Amino acid sequence: MKCPRCDIIVQKKDGCDWICCLMCKTEICWVTKQARWGPNGLGDTSGGCGCRVNNKPCHPNCQNCH
Ligand SMILES: [Zn+2]
Ligand SMILES: [Zn+2]
Ligand SMILES: [Zn+2]
Repeated sequence: MKCPRCDIIVQKKDGCDWICCLMCKTEICWVTKQARWGPNGLGDTSGGCGCRVNNKPCHPNCQNCH
């Protein structure tokens, strides 16, 4: 998939549904294919996939996107 911020190709590793872009260090949620967090970075739930906001996973198939 492509990084939502800088358009570089990033590859998923085994395991969880979280990847980090090597170029811009954006944290990306694999299952929803969008940024893990909002524009203010880690912990910003104003954007991104919103996993575990209101105790709900971001996607029915989420295997933990951190
Ligand atoms: Zn990037
Ligand atoms: Zn997610
Ligand atoms: Zn999730």
